[in-house]
Amino acid sequence: MHDIIVIGGGPAGASAALLAAKAGKKTVVLDNDKGVTKRAWFENFYGIEEIGGPELIAIGKKQAEKFGAGFFNETVVKIESGEDGVTVITEGNQYTAKEVIIATGMLATVANESGIQTKPGTEPRVKTIIDVDAEGKTNVPHVWAAGTVAGESMHGIITAGHGAKVAINVISELNGERYVDHDMLKG
Ligand SMILES: Cc1cc2nc3c(=O)[nH]c(=O)nc-3n(C[C@H](O)[C@H](O)[C@H](O)COP(=O)(O)OP(=O)(O)OC[C@H]3O[C@@H](n4cnc5c(N)ncnc54)[C@H](O)[C@@H]3O)c2cc1C
Repeated sequence: MHDIIVIGGGPAGASAALLAAKAGKKTVVLDNDKGVTKRAWFENFYGIEEIGGPELIAIGKKQAEKFGAGFFNETVVKIESGEDGVTVITEGNQYTAKEVIIATGMLATVANESGIQTKPGTEPRVKTIIDVDAEGKTNVPHVWAAGTVAGESMHGIITAGHGAKVAINVISELNGERYVDHDMLKG
């Protein structure tokens, strides 16, 4: 049983995984490498002068892996939520976790297959989004959503920031108190 499974390894998902793993949570990312970010070129990401999508994704993955997050090439088909947690069913495997964050970008297929409430998207070219509350919770217990699929504006820094925000909320719920991740300059 993992603490947190993240579905999707784009900016939203990998950012969520980075925060989760750094908080000491047993974290796994299931991703099928079909995201839109690998086609993007960024000159509007605060703190980074310019960067290509593939490089941004590779650095984000490396950061999350540094703290112990595992990345697996998997296509998720369905999620089943029970009293003890959530089962994530892929095309060939099953994974269980206490909490799941869906960060599948422009695709809401997993939500539709899993009885998770969706609604029409409001951002350009985003047809369907998952209906989440201000914390990122869906209507299904222990299932959260982040980034484009949660209706956020489709920009790298915004989706990455939202992934981090939802992860902080999930970590706080697991810990039973609000969590903050602040490192200090050494020396
Ligand atoms: C051509 C282009 C140019 C862009 N230029 C900019 C720019 O200049 N500045 C800017 O801020 N933004 C730009 N963007 C937008 C930016 O890339 C996105 O807003 C943002 O990266 C989306 O992040 P995300 O994590 O929500 O989704 P994604 O990056 O799409 O990640 C979703 C991930 O979920 C995975 N996934 C989906 N379904 C499943 C499943 N069933 N099982 C397993 N994995 C699954 C996908 O493989 C993917 O890796 C651009 C986008 C495009 C397409």
